[in-house]
Order: sequence, then C-alpha cells, then structure tokens
Amino acid sequence: MSNIDVIEKFLRYVKIDTQSDDTTGTSPSTMKQHDLAKLLFKEMKEIGVSDLYYDQDHCYVYGKIPATSGFENAPKIGFIAHMDTSDEVSGKDVKPRIVENYDGKDITLSSDGKVVLSPKSFPELKNHVGEDLIVTDGTTLLGADDKAGVAEIMAMAETLLTDPSIQHGPVMIAFTPDEEIGGGTDYFDLDRFGADYAYTIDGGKLGELEYENFNAAEGKIKVNGRSVHPGDAKNKMVNASLICYEFHSLLPVFQNPMYTEKREGFFHLSEVNGSTESAAASYIIRDHDEALFNEKKELFKAAADFLNQKYGEGTVEVSIRDQYYNMIEKIRPHIHLVDNAKKVMTSLGIDPIDVPIRGGTDGAMLSYKGLPCPNLCTGGYNYHGKYEYASVNEMKKVVDIILGLVSVYKDFDI
Ligand SMILES: [Zn+2]
Repeated sequence: MSNIDVIEKFLRYVKIDTQSDDTTGTSPSTMKQHDLAKLLFKEMKEIGVSDLYYDQDHCYVYGKIPATSGFENAPKIGFIAHMDTSDEVSGKDVKPRIVENYDGKDITLSSDGKVVLSPKSFPELKNHVGEDLIVTDGTTLLGADDKAGVAEIMAMAETLLTDPSIQHGPVMIAFTPDEEIGGGTDYFDLDRFGADYAYTIDGGKLGELEYENFNAAEGKIKVNGRSVHPGDAKNKMVNASLICYEFHSLLPVFQNPMYTEKREGFFHLSEVNGSTESAAASYIIRDHDEALFNEKKELFKAAADFLNQKYGEGTVEVSIRDQYYNMIEKIRPHIHLVDNAKKVMTSLGIDPIDVPIRGGTDGAMLSYKGLPCPNLCTGGYNYHGKYEYASVNEMKKVVDIILGLVSVYKDFDI
C-alpha cells in the first residue's frame, strides 16, 4: 500500500492544458504539452528520481529509480504514460470535482444543469456506488486519459523513493507527448529509457489488461472512368462512381465496424469521392488475427482484380499500406508480462480482465521496436469527452498494482 496521495497529483496535472493537435505537423504537436513535461521534470527531481532527462525538442521526460542493494541485476522494468489529451474536446480550464461516496444516482455536471452523468446512459456507474468519483464541470474532458496514468506512475516513484524498506530492481519511467494523434513513440528513445520490459498505464476500468490489438492497414482505390455525354453514352461511358459502389459490394457485408465487436475484424469505408470520370475510396482494414488480416488484404486486391477484368486493365488502381501490427506476437515470447500482471491483480483482490484492443496503442509500436509493452488500467472512464470520470478508489489500487509488479520483477528470473 502506498501512502502517497495519487489524487492530489492527478488534480494538479489535469488543470494543465495539454491537448494535442493532429493538424500542426510538429513534434510535439502543441507547445503547451511542455507545461506538464516541465512540471513532471521538476517533481521527479524533487523526489529524487535519477538519470533525469527532458527532451526539450520533442517533449519526452525520462527518469530512473536505481535498484536497492542486492537487486541490481533484476530485470529493468519500465512504466510509461502520455501527457497529452484528446483533440476532440477541450482540455483547457479543467475544473475537476470530487463526488464523495457516490450514491448511484445522476450526477449533474454543468452549472446550467444540462450536462448530466447518468447511469441511464453509462450503466457501469452502478459499479462505483460508495466510491469517490472525480468528474468534470461539463465543459471540458477530465484528462484521466492519461493523467491518471501519469499520477499513478509518479505516486509509485515517490513511494519507492520515500520508503527505503521497499526492495526493488531498476525501475524506469517515461512520459510521452502526442499519443492521441498517433505520434507518441515517434521520438521515443529506447536506449535512454533502458528498460527490458515496460507497461503503458493508459487503459480504463480497474483490472483491464491489454496485450492484443488490431493488425492495421489502410486500403485505397482510385477508379478511372470515362465520361461521355449521357445522351450518347451507350457502350462508351464508364461510370467511375458506380464502379466504386460495385467495389464496395464485393466486400463482405457484415465485416463492417457497425456489425463487429471483440476479435472480429472489418473493412471500414472512411471516405469516398466520385464523379463519372473518376472516383476514389479510402478504407481501413483491421483484424486481430494475422491470417485473417492477410486474407482481408488479399480480398481487397481480388475485388480490384475482378473489376479490372470486367472493365479493362487500369480501371481500378489499388494500394494497401500496413499501419501497425498486433503486439501479441511480440508479447507471447514474454508472456510473463501478462501472467505477472494477472498474479499481482489477483493477489490484490482484483479480477483481471483481458481486453482485445479494437485499435492500436503506443505499447504496440514499442513492442515492435523491441520493448515488449502491454497496457494496464488506470481507473478512468468515458475517455475523450465531457462525461469522463475517474474512480479515486480504483486509481489508488492501480498504484498498488504498479508497486506489486515492481516487487514481482525484483525476484524474477528471465
Ligand atoms: Zn490514452
């Protein structure tokens, strides 16, 4: 158990606006992320984290907690959280409020009474009766994604550094920018970080453990038609827009994000533009299973081939680009990362929940760069919106999970 106040840290961090922005093209995408980076750097220094490094160009903060005597050769275990918040809802002037001993009823968030956090819309609120919840004032997001993770890692660090009776191996910490816009690992310095294994602390519900994500590709088609005056078009016109429709009709109807869940993959038509002369469509292709993922990409190409045979070579140009892969392939050889997390949770009375991520994570990117990195819960809910909230009780337990992992790895033989 940690005596360090993770909530006090969290309330301090969420008041700093760190919204990222995928339109700037810079790294970090917004300079205001440095405001939190600077504060974390200062706080890490104050509590005695060593090997501190602040990458002022790209806004990453790294630090280490050296092993206690006798555990210098234990595996180096790292913890990572991201500092930015979603670009969907403002993270400026966040005014967090603690609802003590939640009674299971509606929580009115905004002063005009219009924004209400209700178990009718969010039934899982019922699981938090009797807990203290941190909510927004209905005008901004909360930023538990991922400042809950940041605060929990900082509380773990301060616990280790203030309580010399806790034995541990080398522990690494990093805070990253721009996760929300997919740039969180672009300038991550694996050598400087120096961990053998790591966990991102960026999930939701207490007990969630994520080590599978989608394999992901982007598929595009461009259809070259032939525009002819419609009055004189017989056997001459080739309508590119209609061929675009036809292409889509060749893909399996139910393999669509609207009809899939859990480990079911899909083709998602994300954009389409067309005229008679030319048309273009963009898709994302997703599947957890590598074989099914490859099958989907083959089918995408086969649909284009079929149309080229029907309408003539060069009618449909197709391109597929892989975006990221399922981290399970990189975690499986180090499955102790999953087993140990489950063991620690169980020992704390928490039921581990396996969640296959229907998206990607920074941890997936890092796993493919050579740092196996599953994702753990934070105790935050309803991310990226005004209804975001965090459970005080769960956040405290997450600190205990992190400390538990640190303890397991001090004795762990790889
Ligand atoms: Zn996040």
